[in-house]
Amino acid sequence: MITTHPFNDDKLREECGVFGVAGAIDAAAMVALGLHALQHRGQEAAGISSFDGTTFHDHKALGLVAGNFDSEEIMRLLKGEWAIGHVRYATTGETALRNVQPLYAELASGGFAIAHNGNISNAVKLRHDLVRSGSIFQSTSDTETIIHLVATSRYRTLLDKFIDALKQVEGAYSLICLTEMGMIACRDPLGIRPLVMGRIGPEDGGTVIFASETVALDIVGAEFVRSVEPGELVVVSGGEIRSHRPFQQKASRPCIFEHVYFSRPDSIVDGSSVYTVRKAIGGQLAIESPVDVDLVIPVPDSGTPAAIGYAQQSGLPFELGIIRSHYVGRTFIQPGDGVRHLGVKLKHNANRPLVTGKKLVLIDDSIVRGTTSLKIVQMMRDAGAAEVHMRIASPPTMHSCFYGVNTPERSKLLAAQKSIEEMRQFIQADSLAFVSINGLYRALGEASREEEAPRYCDACFTGDYPTPLTDLSEREQPNQLMLLAERVGG
Ligand code: AMP
Repeated sequence: MITTHPFNDDKLREECGVFGVAGAIDAAAMVALGLHALQHRGQEAAGISSFDGTTFHDHKALGLVAGNFDSEEIMRLLKGEWAIGHVRYATTGETALRNVQPLYAELASGGFAIAHNGNISNAVKLRHDLVRSGSIFQSTSDTETIIHLVATSRYRTLLDKFIDALKQVEGAYSLICLTEMGMIACRDPLGIRPLVMGRIGPEDGGTVIFASETVALDIVGAEFVRSVEPGELVVVSGGEIRSHRPFQQKASRPCIFEHVYFSRPDSIVDGSSVYTVRKAIGGQLAIESPVDVDLVIPVPDSGTPAAIGYAQQSGLPFELGIIRSHYVGRTFIQPGDGVRHLGVKLKHNANRPLVTGKKLVLIDDSIVRGTTSLKIVQMMRDAGAAEVHMRIASPPTMHSCFYGVNTPERSKLLAAQKSIEEMRQFIQADSLAFVSINGLYRALGEASREEEAPRYCDACFTGDYPTPLTDLSEREQPNQLMLLAERVGG
């Protein structure tokens, strides 16, 4: 995240994936594979740091993992049996190499490399205080704040300094750190962003892996051991794995949007299969918002599991009415409105013989700005569809995310600006419906959303942010009364 700009600036949002290997020959090559499986979490830059017992090595690049980390020459430089890596997507502007992670610093205890998924929501304030007392920042990343807090901590051991630093930060962090004494993986007390632990080989003396998602364990043939728990620090050092819980225990609030969109469908997140949950959301959507049509059509790939669930629940035929080119990146990922429009056309095409003359319901996971839905509804009409209905497998995205998902500022969120009927008119659909927040919770195995103690961070849908938003000015703080009115109304 970028901290030199006002907090609600588009530039601040960052999506990331992290991966770490403790104790393996070719650790960096395994990290490159892991990052490959996490590429959907960030396509703008990638980096790997390794430690060979004496020296730290790193390589960072703008762009994808493939092409930047598959040359033998580069992988040979990343020596050592310990390595961590990071993929990131930040919106326009701060793509500078100095912000690409892992970040590295020489501390009193030796080298320290850190890879961070999430956003620290008091980083601007912390940075301001640190700079005033003499810290010199090298990047504009919020993650660097943690390094300076560790460096200036009065505690004696690196672990105590690290815990002291984390106790001062607010927001979301799943971290993997590489130090001279070993690897530390940890998750913020609310467990907002995911982090899992895996293993290759025997429990004693095998390789320990940490990853944002289980798909990255699969790619290197690692066995899933467990999630790193919210508020837990796992230290791998000297052949031992130790767990520390330095924070006051509180109810966790993992991100619900990981299940809706962000994670890969073949991952297990917080104990649930993402694919199964997405299908169940589609089923809920069919129960809540049925429609009399000929075909259920997914918006590929993000809407596919929910569309299968919708079709199975409603008994309507599931067909591929939109074909996606796999040689174009995620539309959302290309900064700049002009390019985004172009991207949608590049990415999807109507399966004309199938849809001509048919009544369709299109299923997608979410509407953010509305660009995709508008284009796709139009594409179906151009291909001769008789009716085009839209069903969305999440509630309306009304609020920005400050914890590591790239939702734009509220002024660009269609649902924050328009009623559902106005949104329907905007995307030119015959009807539009979203799954309810309780329907979403039901798909996740809960009876409903517990208003007093929701099981997930669902701030993008409800505005109920689980941490203080210290870096927002008072004017920008979500107005609780307004949010309540929205919730009652919606
Ligand atoms: P939009 O065209 O702005 O309404 O974006 C909606 C599309 O973007 C949907 O098809 C989603 O699958 C996808 N999407 C939603 N959230 C994100 C995100 N944080 N990053 C990238 N794509 C997203």
